[in-house]
Amino acid sequence: MVLLDRSTLMVVFALMTLTMLVLFYFDTYRKNRAPFAGWWCWAVASFFLAAVFYFMGEAEAVAWAPSVGNGVMVLGSGCVWAGTRSLAGRRILPWLLGIPAMAAFAVDASVHYSDNARIGSIVLLALMGTATGLASMELWREREDSWHRVRSLAVATAVCAVYYLSRTVGLAVLGPADPLFQVLFGTGVSMLMAMVLLVVVSSSITSLNYARRTENLQELAYHDGLTGLLNREEFMRQAQRRLRANLAAGVDTVIVMADLDRFKAINDRFGHDAGDGVIRAFAQACRLAVRDADLVGRYGGEEFALLLDGVDAAGGVRIADRINAALAEHSSLPAGADSPTASFGVVDAHDGNAGLQRLLREADRALYDAKAAGRNQAVIGLTAAGTQPG
Ligand code: GH3
Ligand code: MG
Ligand code: MG
Repeated sequence: MVLLDRSTLMVVFALMTLTMLVLFYFDTYRKNRAPFAGWWCWAVASFFLAAVFYFMGEAEAVAWAPSVGNGVMVLGSGCVWAGTRSLAGRRILPWLLGIPAMAAFAVDASVHYSDNARIGSIVLLALMGTATGLASMELWREREDSWHRVRSLAVATAVCAVYYLSRTVGLAVLGPADPLFQVLFGTGVSMLMAMVLLVVVSSSITSLNYARRTENLQELAYHDGLTGLLNREEFMRQAQRRLRANLAAGVDTVIVMADLDRFKAINDRFGHDAGDGVIRAFAQACRLAVRDADLVGRYGGEEFALLLDGVDAAGGVRIADRINAALAEHSSLPAGADSPTASFGVVDAHDGNAGLQRLLREADRALYDAKAAGRNQAVIGLTAAGTQPG
């Protein structure tokens, strides 16, 4: 076995963390600047700095350097924990990370040259073990939602925590000179372990970042920016698929077209931003009134298309009324202004002969009738079966 002295190991560790930091920062973090990737940058930067301080300590150039190294290592582990919290959208108080870091520094500085020097290392390891253990627990809490994404990260941080905490116990019970301690937890073993874990964590975080980025791009490609509803293309794609499946399974399906009433007047009177607010309020009203599985798309400027499952045309009209009621309740217009309303055309897709395009056309015609009949209402259109027998 090749044995490397501590100084060489520190140089290797410093070079590795520096390379990792540069690669991760430019290749991953800068792509979407996700907070968890930012925390990982801080963590790797801390590990690099710690390696530099430890190297200075090995060279015995600066007496306080190893103690600072301990403080910075604890800070880095705290950043790993903060990163896992930010991944789950939980709150982080950055200044809190400074407390254990200062404690690790202060304890080591006060005992470093005494007979109790190992207390500094025990505190360092216990704090690092705790921080990585907390990080792992944050990830385990994610189990239901996105476990497949955080699995390797959860395992890597758990291995880290177990290793650091065992090393803490080993150091306290056996002492640094014990041969068993040297085999299990000697500097060389620990450094190798740290490097392997750094690579695992870094690559997990890179793939997590990539997954987030893909999700963001999909969100942009499939949804409308103003309302978050499906955009027209995605609505058509999903509605076509759903219509086919529902017709095959004999599930009632209704197609609805909606258009805000006298919307031009709203824009003219209250401004374009207020108009946008009404469009958003309509989207929100739809979300409140339909079931999660139903499809709602922004079809054009202030026109919307819906596919409702498991209801007939009369049920579609009831839902349209519910949307108008929710729209009035959540109106974003100034007090005193009339509540915004919408008109709806509803068609039943039950006969199985009409494609989506045709159903949308029928719904649009019914919508036109609703406008002609005075707006703020839903009109049931001729079904495809009625207009095209057989
Ligand atoms: P009707 O009741 O007959 O539907 O009357 P209307 O005024 O709503 O008529 P029309 O559908 O012709 O007007 C649509 C207006 O919606 C015209 C356009 O300026 C406005 N509009 C379209 N897209 C947007 C948008 O994204 N934001 C805002 N603020 N206005 C929009
Ligand atoms: Mg319109
Ligand atoms: Mg309109």
